Amino acid sequence: MKTIALIAHDGKKADILQFANDNKKVLAKCKLIATRTTGKLMKEKVGLKVKCYMSGPMGGDAEIAALVANKKVHAVIFITDPLDAHPHDPDIHGLLRVCNVHNIPLATNIATAQMIISRKGLFSDEGMME
Ligand code: PGA
Repeated sequence: MKTIALIAHDGKKADILQFANDNKKVLAKCKLIATRTTGKLMKEKVGLKVKCYMSGPMGGDAEIAALVANKKVHAVIFITDPLDAHPHDPDIHGLLRVCNVHNIPLATNIATAQMIISRKGLFSDEGMME
């Protein structure tokens, strides 16, 4: 089973909600982890099972970065808001960096997220999409 991390900045929460609703069937077949507020939305508004870590500004991105560095995550969907400033910018860059260090698929926008979970993306070796 693939583990996917879902994170979205506040200005992008509506976008990740839409993405999760549109792809609920596929996401439900994955082990999902998330930062706290994003995960809460996924649970309450989409009905997905999600393991929540701390909120991003409180260290959640750093917690997920540690999991990525330990090869516990198959893909990271981190919908960033380039039009806003974030107090936890160093953690955000740390997470993006470890994904790149370990060659873990990383989407920072919805178009790429869609590709990652497509038939030819993360699941190409599983034949899990009908
Ligand atoms: P949140 O954190 O899901 O708790 O809002 C996301 C972030 O800002 O990194």
